[in-house]
Amino acid sequence: MVVSSSSSRGKRMVFKVTPASGAENSGVYRRPRMMLRPTRVDDIPKIFSKTKSYPTPVRAVGADYSQARCVGGDGGTVVDMGGIDKILEFGDGFVRAQAGVRVGTLVRALTERGLELPLTPEIGNISLGALAMTTLPQASFQEGMAQLSSCVLEMKLITPQGKQMVVTDKDRELMRVLRSSFGLLGIVHEVALRVVPMQAVKIDYRSYTLEDFIQRFDSVLKFTGAMRLHIAPFKDRVTVEKRTLDAEGSTTRSGIWQIRNSVMRNVLPAFGSSVGSVLSGPGLRSAVLSGVQRALNATQTPAARGVVVYAHEWLRDLPAESWKARYTHSLWAFPIAGYPRVLKEYFAFCRGYYKEHHYRPNLVTAASRLHRDRGALFSPSYNGTTMTLEPSSDGEKGWADFLIDFNDFASRLGGVPTFNQTRALKTEHVSKAFGERMRLFRALRQRTDPLNRLHNSYFASLFGST
Ligand SMILES: Cc1cc2nc3c(=O)[nH]c(=O)nc-3n(C[C@H](O)[C@H](O)[C@H](O)COP(=O)(O)OP(=O)(O)OC[C@H]3O[C@@H](n4cnc5c(N)ncnc54)[C@H](O)[C@@H]3O)c2cc1C
Repeated sequence: MVVSSSSSRGKRMVFKVTPASGAENSGVYRRPRMMLRPTRVDDIPKIFSKTKSYPTPVRAVGADYSQARCVGGDGGTVVDMGGIDKILEFGDGFVRAQAGVRVGTLVRALTERGLELPLTPEIGNISLGALAMTTLPQASFQEGMAQLSSCVLEMKLITPQGKQMVVTDKDRELMRVLRSSFGLLGIVHEVALRVVPMQAVKIDYRSYTLEDFIQRFDSVLKFTGAMRLHIAPFKDRVTVEKRTLDAEGSTTRSGIWQIRNSVMRNVLPAFGSSVGSVLSGPGLRSAVLSGVQRALNATQTPAARGVVVYAHEWLRDLPAESWKARYTHSLWAFPIAGYPRVLKEYFAFCRGYYKEHHYRPNLVTAASRLHRDRGALFSPSYNGTTMTLEPSSDGEKGWADFLIDFNDFASRLGGVPTFNQTRALKTEHVSKAFGERMRLFRALRQRTDPLNRLHNSYFASLFGST
């Protein structure tokens, strides 16, 4: 449906109004009173000023793929940024684009120019607005660049007072807060992102038993590239994936079909990136389990070793409607020094949980090393290098309950959660992980949005009283 109304200056505002989508089917409860889809940046300030027509809270939504209720419409107005979606400029070392552009679209456009983002996610659906304002950690190559928002050099946003604001990375403190603001300080409509020349990445896998992995942990950590783990507590396996920037191009790319067949098809799906296809057929559970098994087997074969890819080759798109993805995960990060203990306790936790509740997540648990990155206030590696733990599942019965206990487990071991990729969080988890930083953000928010125009119940409950 398209509605139009007059703005205070008599100019007509035209929005596409859509019903609340099937988000509640994904278990992510949202329920706004209305959804607006502006196509012009000029219409966003008017949404803020017309409090009667556009009820509080006003919440931006990008692609709607978050794993938690951070969008949270709460009977208010959700502003779908998908209609503001142009790539504006390919500059020297940067690209400028609007908030509704999907990262997959951007990455493919950069590839055509021999460029890439310093970090490339595995799913292409993420919107650039969310990339700038939420926590999207990725296996990192260097300090200061462990989450996608650290690629942001400049943001243009509309504040709750309807004012335009331009912030660059020269204003480090403000940028740090905005990069963790989840639409609570304003709606971003444009970003400039750092880009670098495309570089090949060599990928190697090695599989260990838990004890073996723990014994070799110090030497595994000496590896300087990016690192992912694929963890299977019931198989007693930890598979280490090492990603090395292949600057000299010393490795040939003749392995491209090996990549497609042995790594992309067998390995990555089980870790989430195109798992939708694995999940679509009948016999779901066994298909998933055998997919994981295939993945682990693939890591043992020489074909899956030493392959070379460009980052855009591991990018996959989930189904266009987020609730159809049928794949979920939850993410916590732990200080690297204590990680062997965390892993050992995680194996015991999973086994104990299974014994008691006859439930275990039916996909492999992934993990990424995150170098220290203070680019965002709620960065999971703000206080130093961390390693994540990301159980995943197709969301089958038992998953939601598992996460409740898993969250308490992770918090007890000093874990740091996210607000968009950690499900079923409680206030005490958040205050334990973020303490002073959370109080600072809350105070700042109260000053910048005294009428709580952008505030929803999800963040109100996590951050305590407003
Ligand atoms: C199956 C699955 C697998 C995933 N795997 C990965 C993965 O491997 N790696 C990874 O990094 N991510 C992954 N994600 C994505 C991750 O969960 C992100 O949280 C999410 O997709 C963020 O992008 P979005 O556009 O969907 O944000 P949304 O869910 O639409 O919004 C997220 C938050 O950002 C705010 N926001 C959005 N746009 C704006 C804007 N323009 N201005 C202000 N605030 C805004 C919203 O209000 C909300 O608080 C996965 C998601 C799914 C469903």
